[in-house]
Amino acid sequence: MASTLGSVGEVRIKPERLHTFAMAICRADGSSEEEARLVADHLVLANLFGHDSHGVGMIPHYIQNTESGACVRNHHAKMARDNGAVIVVDGGAGYGQVVAKEAMDIGIERARQHGVCVLGLINAHHIGRIGHWGEQCARAGMVSTHWVNVHGHKSMVAPFGGAEPRFTTNPYCTTIPRNGKEPIVLDFATSQVAMGKVRVAQNKKVPMEDGLLIDAAGRPTTDPGVMYNAPYGALLPFGLHKGGGLAVICDLLAGALTGGRTHSPRTIKKTGTDIINNMLSVIIDPAAMGGSALFEEEVETFITWVKSAKPQDGVPEVLAPGEPERARRADREKNGIPIDTTTWQQLLDVAAKVRLNDTDIPHMA
Ligand code: NAD
Repeated sequence: MASTLGSVGEVRIKPERLHTFAMAICRADGSSEEEARLVADHLVLANLFGHDSHGVGMIPHYIQNTESGACVRNHHAKMARDNGAVIVVDGGAGYGQVVAKEAMDIGIERARQHGVCVLGLINAHHIGRIGHWGEQCARAGMVSTHWVNVHGHKSMVAPFGGAEPRFTTNPYCTTIPRNGKEPIVLDFATSQVAMGKVRVAQNKKVPMEDGLLIDAAGRPTTDPGVMYNAPYGALLPFGLHKGGGLAVICDLLAGALTGGRTHSPRTIKKTGTDIINNMLSVIIDPAAMGGSALFEEEVETFITWVKSAKPQDGVPEVLAPGEPERARRADREKNGIPIDTTTWQQLLDVAAKVRLNDTDIPHMA
């Protein structure tokens, strides 16, 4: 078998085996072949890039949501408003990996026609790693920026200066295509860390770093359990008032401007596990601005200049956004994807729940 034991409390599994397993779970749960493939592609790529928070560890949550109806299997994106270069696409709580791809396909086509597309994707089930959507635009030669909010889910992130949560991890992403090279991908949660990283720490039973979490009284803590056991604490926003401000802007652009709705008592389901993402994407064709040749040359000139900075002590190299993920991918493709044993057990449990044929389950060597 492809999987082997890694360090204590960890399974290492080859990406292709993990992909087959992830796909098989979704298929057994009732997703079409294509849907299962899109979900597995997305989650395994997130693992390969080192974002385990948005990898296959999400599957138990997804299956819980298909069962409750909070995620609708085999659903496709629908145009809700069509103003040419300004469009709103409704995900209908379908799998985010399906409806966001379909929305980006439309947005890219519109940006080709008009030079730009301002796209609101509303009411999508979890759309995962936002860089995935920026990369889809970059493959088509488009620059794109994405602001995302989350509702359905309970609040998890405190506003700057707040001692209790008011929104969630509201990610932001900008992706810049490059000629013959991998794109620049800046993609992050506006909380100090993505919530999935707290889940990974909780599953591994390890404390988190200082400065990421507060407890229910608003005091600093390193215990990931404050996000799982009442009375609940909160994640802090990144970058003090600047990151806290960007988190607020994400909710306003993705939730209010698009009509997808902000995170508020009207949309929070306190006991639910729903994760609905709304996203405002601005997709720009560089050819409609300074022209592709000038743009491509300036990108290379600037990135080369930035990377030429002498690194600080202890830093091997100045990296461009997107490079750390690609380095991790090279390592994980070679050495396998590490999965903590708690997450692995959750995957085995969900495989049993959907009655996956035993031959589809990778077993430990
Ligand atoms: P992170 O803190 O790891 O930051 C990642 C970004 O920083 C990447 O663009 C990366 O290339 C860049 N980066 C990291 N180290 C760098 C270095 N040394 N030099 C240059 N650039 C560097 O990311 P995160 O906040 O943990 O977010 C993880 C993922 O979670 C993202 O893909 C995000 O989209 C996703 N997310 C999704 C949701 C959702 O609701 N769907 C919510 C939150 C986060």
